[in-house]
Amino acid sequence: MCAEIRARGARKAAREADRAEAHAWSVRMEGYGGPAQPSPTIRQCLNGGLGWLEVECSRCKTRASLPLDAIRRLRDTPIWKLEASLKCRSCRTRRHAPPVRMIKLAEARQITPYKWVHPDEER
Ligand SMILES: [Zn+2]
Repeated sequence: MCAEIRARGARKAAREADRAEAHAWSVRMEGYGGPAQPSPTIRQCLNGGLGWLEVECSRCKTRASLPLDAIRRLRDTPIWKLEASLKCRSCRTRRHAPPVRMIKLAEARQITPYKWVHPDEER
């Protein structure tokens, strides 16, 4: 009984710590434009309840929300590593894709659903 309560408390503390870290990163990205590194991991963002990553295409300025739980990457992957593999579907050509900028994390989808080339599509 006591052990269970302690375990629950520990999980809650871990969630709060993850949320604090993900939130701090999000504020830094949105308010100051980075630096993106170091960043929380996919797991930390999901665990902390910030499961959506908002990104912007540097060329057409389209923004999109990306559900982190749909990314088939190791959950320990820091989210800054995703940036290089995200590409805007409408701007991408066979030889070149303009860079994508990460804007912030969010609890829910706030803007357009993700219509970008998924990091896993090119494997
Ligand atoms: Zn674009």
